[in-house]
Amino acid sequence: MSNDLLTDTQREVQSLARDFAQAEIAPYASEWSQRHEAPLAVLRKMGALGLLGIIVPEELGGAGLDATSLALVVEEVARADAGTSTAIAVQNGLVASPILRAGTAAQQEEWLPRIAAGEIFGAYALTEPDAGSDTASLRTTATVRDGGWAVSGAKIWITNGGFADLFVVFARTGEAGAKGISAFLTTSGPGLEVSTEIPKMGLHTSSTVELAFDEHAVPADGMLGDPGTGLKLALATLDGGRITIAAQACGIAQAAVDLATEYATTRIAFGGPIARFQGIQFPLADVAAKLDAARLLTRYAAALRDAGKPHGIAGAKAKLFASAVAVEAADMAVQTLGGYGYSAEYPAERYYRDAKITEIYEGTSQIQRLVIARSMLGDSAR
Ligand SMILES: Cc1cc2nc3c(=O)[nH]c(=O)nc-3n(C[C@H](O)[C@H](O)[C@H](O)COP(=O)(O)OP(=O)(O)OC[C@H]3O[C@@H](n4cnc5c(N)ncnc54)[C@H](O)[C@@H]3O)c2cc1C
Repeated sequence: MSNDLLTDTQREVQSLARDFAQAEIAPYASEWSQRHEAPLAVLRKMGALGLLGIIVPEELGGAGLDATSLALVVEEVARADAGTSTAIAVQNGLVASPILRAGTAAQQEEWLPRIAAGEIFGAYALTEPDAGSDTASLRTTATVRDGGWAVSGAKIWITNGGFADLFVVFARTGEAGAKGISAFLTTSGPGLEVSTEIPKMGLHTSSTVELAFDEHAVPADGMLGDPGTGLKLALATLDGGRITIAAQACGIAQAAVDLATEYATTRIAFGGPIARFQGIQFPLADVAAKLDAARLLTRYAAALRDAGKPHGIAGAKAKLFASAVAVEAADMAVQTLGGYGYSAEYPAERYYRDAKITEIYEGTSQIQRLVIARSMLGDSAR
């Protein structure tokens, strides 16, 4: 798809990310994935390039760029390896972003330069074993203790958690329901136990753990935003985060299209390349058209965010559509490669396993549909 509508700066960051991802990530991604290894050294290098603090202002050590640039970077990295792009999406979209939105000047100065440099990694801890889509029912508590807070409870599926230094944690400080939840910034320490890696279907280069809080002490100035505004902050953060997941889905889909296209022209069957069969051509063409549409939805949502306009519904539509395209594209790639598509010798099977997560995290596809339908039907949809 044409990049004509991008600014020069956006094109520059896109090409920086593409060159880095193709040289330093793509050739090694399958190996890392087979070893279930998050490429920390490569992530740190991305910090040095400014890719971990894309949306962090320059005066706080970041690249000072926009949501469109972040989406472009996540897409390019996801094209090389989805799991690595998740780390960037979380660092920028789920950790730097809420600190920028709700942090005090002191919190911003303390954390953002180190996040942007890749000196520290952050994790976003909202989901609990019994509260995923239904975030307002979360049960982790933060109670006043010694002038600060004591956090107790369990979080699950926490990306970057295995190596994170900083945690954005959502906990109940008051009444039941949405208004009793507050956000906190905390670091590893007594009363915070990080589990071993949770075995997963895919996304093996991304760290995913459980967190167990037991009277974990957070100082008084560790609250992020005002008391009782935590869920609002969590959801506003996800409004932006969903754009990066849509971009990640576009990157996975692009990788699948690239692989299927290349394979179709070189694999010989019945005396010529399989590319001459309509059964190979049409699924490829369908996915190519849908991928353009997914990218347009993603960039539209990012552009709305950059213009300071409401972007929650546009982001939900982009994620809903792009994630389905990623799953379809990965399926198409496996089918195009036949038996080799099913083998670990080619990355099609990795794309297939990785694509699925985009329909689940940062709100499942059902939840995106719910968000979209409610925006259309108002209270009648509740
Ligand atoms: C690899 C991975 C990484 C993740 N990273 C993070 C992270 O860094 N931080 C974090 O906080 N969380 C993270 N998550 C959690 C993720 O966001 C949740 O898994 C997701 O939101 C779904 O919640 P759940 O798993 O509890 O499913 P549930 O909410 O139990 O849903 C189960 C099923 O019911 C459906 N459903 C639920 N409610 C409705 C409804 N009202 N209408 C229709 N259908 C409904 C869902 O769509 C789903 O199909 C991650 C998850 C995974 C797998």
